[in-house]
Amino acid sequence: MGVQERFNLAGKVALVTGGGRGIGAHIALALAEAGADVGVAGRTLAQTQEVAARIRDLGRRSYAAYVDVTNVPSIRAMVEEVAGHFGRIDILVNNAGVNIIKYALDVTEEDWDQVLDTNLKGVFFCAQSVGRLMVAQKYGRIVNIASQMAAVGYYKRAAYCASKGGVAQITKVLAVEWARDNVTVNAVAPTFIETAMTAKMLQDEEFRQEVLRRIPMGRLGQPDEVIGAVIYLASDASSLVTGHTLFVDGGWTAW
Ligand code: NDP
Repeated sequence: MGVQERFNLAGKVALVTGGGRGIGAHIALALAEAGADVGVAGRTLAQTQEVAARIRDLGRRSYAAYVDVTNVPSIRAMVEEVAGHFGRIDILVNNAGVNIIKYALDVTEEDWDQVLDTNLKGVFFCAQSVGRLMVAQKYGRIVNIASQMAAVGYYKRAAYCASKGGVAQITKVLAVEWARDNVTVNAVAPTFIETAMTAKMLQDEEFRQEVLRRIPMGRLGQPDEVIGAVIYLASDASSLVTGHTLFVDGGWTAW
């Protein structure tokens, strides 16, 4: 198999949660550019429908589905809808996520539940629902969007760090359980990327400078810089890679 062919996703069907904006929208469009048909899921249909339309402009099939990943019946309905539309799902990108920035002493039970239910429970039950189809078809690529916060602690992020550390751990468990079924499960762990999620916190100049000091490459990431890792892990270029968390962090965790 040639190099181009290993990265080519033609004929594959992908599903991206939180695909309507930010990193997820860039991932959905990149998967389409690499050849895949793409289901785009999230709570804001106007956004997922817009990304789905841009995917059709690229000449691929697309489908915008509603999902609230904190709700397991909603996840199951989305997977049934998307699999019903395309006939199969080969690639799942678990991207939907939230962050609530608070010192540990101020975190409420509601804050904790929202972050953990979205970032960890949501990832697990999306992987379980799609994984069931992948195990049956003996092919699948699951890519979980974790964070560098899976590996390092950072203030005001107790729930977020717990959720992303959990994502790295369930990535390993699912990889081990589904390895014989040709379903690989990996994670991508970005540093600070300029999106709606980080816009407000990065307006604080002191915070921005501290973050920049901690990134050896000395700059923030852009959503497009996450897609190479995702395409690699979603394609047959990574056929022997499973249970891995790939850091896209400008060297933060190397320091
Ligand atoms: P955005 O806030 O821009 O986008 C988050 C996406 O998740 C939206 O599409 C949103 O759609 C969706 N989402 C949130 N809650 C739910 C829910 N309950 N059900 C379904 N969809 C939901 O964030 P980013 O693009 O920055 O982040 C994407 C992922 O990357 C997250 O997992 C985040 O933790 C991770 N990440 C981000 C970093 C960064 O610096 N930006 C760094 C490291 C990791 P909607 O609200 O319409 O449902």
